[in-house]
Amino acid sequence: MLYLDNSATTPTHQEVVDAMLPYWTDIFGNPSSKYYSQAVDAKVAVDHARQAVATLVNSKADEVIFTSGATESNNFLLKGIAMSHSNKGKRIISSTVEHPSVLETLRYLETQGFDVVYLSVDSFGRIGLAELEKALSEQPTLLVSLLWGNNELGSLNPIKEASELAHKYNAFFHSDATQVIGKVPVDLENLPYVQLVSVSAHKFYGPKGIGAAIVRKDEMGLSLKITPLLHGGAQENGYRSGTHAVPLIVGMGKAAEIAYSKLNEHRQHLLTLESKLKQLLMQQFGDVIQFNNDESNKIPGILSVQFKGLNNEILCKELAPVMAVSTGSACSSSKPSHVLQEIGCTMEQLRSTIRFSLSPYQSEKELDIFLEL
Ligand code: PMP
Repeated sequence: MLYLDNSATTPTHQEVVDAMLPYWTDIFGNPSSKYYSQAVDAKVAVDHARQAVATLVNSKADEVIFTSGATESNNFLLKGIAMSHSNKGKRIISSTVEHPSVLETLRYLETQGFDVVYLSVDSFGRIGLAELEKALSEQPTLLVSLLWGNNELGSLNPIKEASELAHKYNAFFHSDATQVIGKVPVDLENLPYVQLVSVSAHKFYGPKGIGAAIVRKDEMGLSLKITPLLHGGAQENGYRSGTHAVPLIVGMGKAAEIAYSKLNEHRQHLLTLESKLKQLLMQQFGDVIQFNNDESNKIPGILSVQFKGLNNEILCKELAPVMAVSTGSACSSSKPSHVLQEIGCTMEQLRSTIRFSLSPYQSEKELDIFLEL
């Protein structure tokens, strides 16, 4: 089976599984208990993982809040900022191609009296800075939330410039970085106005059900007030109550260590694999395919391809025994892709689109069987 759906999820790295194992059985203590080794050692492991995640995105360890994944991080950060800071205004700016965990959260906030402006995107799914500045200048804005890299097209948004604009107009800035981690450098120390970031471990060879919300401290080193989604024992600095999922956190930490140490190597390899896959597709199907994604300034390893005249659902099903691909995002697979609609694809074009997403753990040789399959 050739697995080409790595943007939906990745297999858990064997070293990650090995690192997690002792924390199910031997070091099973609750890290909030203080007196005996099972708990103390679990706390040390959680702290170590927190540092590893911080290193991966170049933030500080105490800015990392463990959650159950990017869906929770997006819900927590958007609702939490909205609730805690609505005195600053009720206007939020985002874009039409966000992941459903952002879009549906924003729709919920609209029912609570927030006014959301959805920026349109260009033909590759990127927002325009002029349109962002225009929206910011029209009325005071509480928060800007923009996808770092698009899960269907791979396109990268101009996050640095957008966060600077948000700062200029005194708005908080959030980015869903779920798809870029481990594939594109994320250097928060050098992006001081990117204050809130969401990530999920299973997109970079960590376990499912664990992620992080990064909440940057302000210039004075003070924590931002964000109303929690989960109230209780005040773990995670009060931002996220609930007993720590120690094995999953350890797994995320290990995955972050590997992703950090291999970032450049993985990036290069993904570029090589992507160009090979592109070449194979062109060679065999050149006259019936069209690429939806941009050539550059994108996450390496994601290709979105129209197969003219074919139905993507039938194609995915037919290929399933030998090759795993998807029609777009796994999270909204029952609906036609809103991302492709927003970049101007017709219904026919989006019903013939397949997303291929590659893994740095695949070899060029593995791709050789692609055409045969
Ligand atoms: N944001 C983006 C861009 C994603 O691709 C995903 C996963 N498809 C999520 C958020 C949600 O991640 P999770 O399902 O792990 O909560």
